[in-house]
Amino acid sequence: MTAPRIDTDTLRRLPKAVLHDHLDGGLRPATVVELAEAVGHTLPTTDPDALAAWYYDAANSGDLVRYIATFEHTLAVMQTREGLLRTAEEYVLDLAADGVVYAEVRYAPELLVKGGLSLPEVVGTVQEGLAAGMAKAAAQGTPVRVGTLLCGMRMFDRTREIAELVVAHRDAGVVGFDIAGAEDGFPPADHLAAFAYLRRENMPFTIHAGEAHGLPSIHQALQVCGAQRIGHGVRITDDIVDGKLGRLAGWVRDRRIALEMCPTSNLQTGAATSIAEHPVTALKDLGFRVTLNTDNRLVSGTTMTREMSLLVEQAGWTVEDLRTVTVNALRSAFLPYDERKALIEDVVLPGYRSVL
Ligand SMILES: [Zn+2]
Repeated sequence: MTAPRIDTDTLRRLPKAVLHDHLDGGLRPATVVELAEAVGHTLPTTDPDALAAWYYDAANSGDLVRYIATFEHTLAVMQTREGLLRTAEEYVLDLAADGVVYAEVRYAPELLVKGGLSLPEVVGTVQEGLAAGMAKAAAQGTPVRVGTLLCGMRMFDRTREIAELVVAHRDAGVVGFDIAGAEDGFPPADHLAAFAYLRRENMPFTIHAGEAHGLPSIHQALQVCGAQRIGHGVRITDDIVDGKLGRLAGWVRDRRIALEMCPTSNLQTGAATSIAEHPVTALKDLGFRVTLNTDNRLVSGTTMTREMSLLVEQAGWTVEDLRTVTVNALRSAFLPYDERKALIEDVVLPGYRSVL
């Protein structure tokens, strides 16, 4: 039995929620080229199409460390106020064009201070750009709400400082914290001071875990650090044998811990082998709180519409499945409960009802 085809235009119009998308991985290729010229940064190519292809190829290495290395060129053009304002505004407009109604954007402020901006200036400037984008998106009839997650880099020692930055900006659009960067050799528990501080401040956080590294990283992120969600988490399948859940997998499913899954990105870093076989489908079917995400739209050459379309075409997903992961994302968003409920009931469900 084959699922009915859902055309791309319909998919694009469906309301979407994305919890895992990096600001510095989602720039428009033409913007990277223009901003690089303005700041005198040398790129592998100055042709926007060739640059997009370069990113995709470089990211397709099957290795998380090389994937991360491609960010050098986007970060290089985001060190000025102009660069940050433009990339943040365009980021929101691109999501709106993709049918996204709620997004959590994440980035590491400590990687954006080479041009002389202070950490609070970086955060304030990005919020300004996001607000401009949200105003424009609303004016053109495609409103999108964007909350910000600030990332501490797991290989550096500024995570406690970034956690304080999160709390300081909690009333200015920052909704949570994350740690990012290469997993191997940098376990989440190295950053316990940051996580303990956030818990004392009642501030939620997610942790990149179970992508390059297996079950111990997921266990540590949840049970030692106290994460409310897991970035990727694909390796939770190591704790599931013939559909039977181990203790940790059971905890993740039964406590409704959201898994921020990013299929295309996982293929590129070698965390999964194909869309058809990607664990997102089996985990969805087992009742996990699976969410669908882009991770890095430029670097992975993707959009939410594309991720949905791949799952529909190659893994047999239905519109109901797409609605499930969208509602899942909003249930686990770092927004107040009443706002999540309103987005689900007033925006997402009516949007899916119109095509079901
Ligand atoms: Zn990520």
